[in-house]
Amino acid sequence: MSDTRADGARRLPATGTPIALTDRHQRPLRDLRISVTDRCNFRCVYCMPKEVFGRDYAFLDRDELLSFEEITRIAAVAAAHGVHKIRLTGGEPLLRRGIEQLIAQLAALRTPEGEALDIALTTNGSALAVKAAALKAAGLRRVTVSVDSLDDELFQRMNDVRFPVSRVLDGIDAAHEAGLGPIRLNMVVKRGVNDGEVLDMARRFKGTPYTLRFIEYMDVGTTNGWSLDEVVPSAEIIRRIHDVFPLEPADAVVPGETAKRWRYVDGGGEIGVISSVTNAFCGTCTRARISTEGRLFTCLFASSGHDLRALLRGGAGDDELAAAMASIWGARDDRYSEVRASLTPELRAQRKRIEMSYIGG
Ligand code: SAM
Ligand code: SF4
Ligand code: SF4
Repeated sequence: MSDTRADGARRLPATGTPIALTDRHQRPLRDLRISVTDRCNFRCVYCMPKEVFGRDYAFLDRDELLSFEEITRIAAVAAAHGVHKIRLTGGEPLLRRGIEQLIAQLAALRTPEGEALDIALTTNGSALAVKAAALKAAGLRRVTVSVDSLDDELFQRMNDVRFPVSRVLDGIDAAHEAGLGPIRLNMVVKRGVNDGEVLDMARRFKGTPYTLRFIEYMDVGTTNGWSLDEVVPSAEIIRRIHDVFPLEPADAVVPGETAKRWRYVDGGGEIGVISSVTNAFCGTCTRARISTEGRLFTCLFASSGHDLRALLRGGAGDDELAAAMASIWGARDDRYSEVRASLTPELRAQRKRIEMSYIGG
C-alpha cells in the first residue's frame, strides 16, 4: 500500500519515490504516447507538407533516437506510477526497424496491480498488410489506421507520395484478420479538401467491424498553414451523416475519452468525432507524450519538452527518473485547446509549437 502525503504526492514503497498523483488541474497521468520515429513515407498535406519536409529536411540521426531499452525504461517507470495505456506513434511507427521487439518488451511490463498494459499503435497503414501478424504476435493489442479518403485520386493527393488507398484498405483487413481489433479508422477532415468524402466514408464503414472517427483539423505545428476556415466542426459532420443515416448519441465507455460516440439508429455500429477545436477536452486530458529523442511533452501544443534522454544517458536510476516525471506532471498547467479561441491569430502565430510528425498524434 502507498501512503498519500498532504501535498498530494504519494510515496511508493517499491521505490520510495514521491510521485504527484495529479497535475495542477487534478488530471492524473494515465496514457503515454511514444513517438518512435520522426520519419514518414507519406507527406500528408496537413502534417508533413513536402515544401517543408523535402529532401533537405534534417531528420534525427539514429543515435539521437531513444533506444528500445530507453523507451522501455521510461514506460516501466510510467507504468509503476499510474500509466495503463501506451500508444506508439510517429512519424510512421512501422518504419522503425524492429518495432516488434519494442512491442514485445512493452508487453512484458505490468502495472503495480499486475496487469499488462494496453498497447496500441497509430499508423498510416502502408505496411500493415506485411506486418499485422508479427505485430499481434509481439503483443500489440490494437491499431488505429489513418484514412482520409476512399477516392484514390484524392487519397494520393493528400498523402502526396501517390500511395494508393487500396493498399491501406488491404492493410486494415490484414490487421482485422490478425486480431488487432477493435480497429479505429481516423479521418482528418479539411474543408475544401476531403470534406466531400464524409458521407462515402460513413457509408463504406457502416456495419463493418471498424469504427470510423472524424478528427477536426488542428493547428499543430507551424508548417501546415492552418486556418480556422478549414476546420469542419464535428457538429456539421454529425448533421451531414444524420440526414442520411440517423444517429443517436452513445455513452462514453471510458471516462475521458477523446472521441464523442454516436450510434447508427438502425444498428449499423458507431462513429466517433474528435472535436479538438470546437469542443476541447483538456479537462479530462491524461496524456503525456514522449518525442522520438526522449523529450516529455505534457501537451500536444507545448512549445518545449523535458529532456528525459539526458537523465537516462547521464546514469539516472529509476527513482530519479520517476521523481523527474512526477515533478513535470505535477507542474502541468496545459489546456491549449480550451484557450485557443481566446487567442488572436497574431498571438497564435507567435506561439512556438511542435510538429505532429515529431511528437505523434
Ligand atoms: N503516421 C501515423 C498516422 O498517420 O496514423 C501516425 C502519426 S500521425 C501524426 C497521427 C494522427 O495524427 C493521424 O491520424 C493523423 O491523421 C493525425 N494528424 C496529423 N496532423 C493533424 C492535424 N493537423 N490535425 C488533426 N490531426 C492530425
Ligand atoms: Fe505521416 Fe501520419 Fe503525418 Fe501523414 S499524418 S505525414 S502518415 S506522420
Ligand atoms: Fe491535452 Fe493539450 Fe490537447 Fe488540451 S490541448 S487535450 S491539454 S494535449
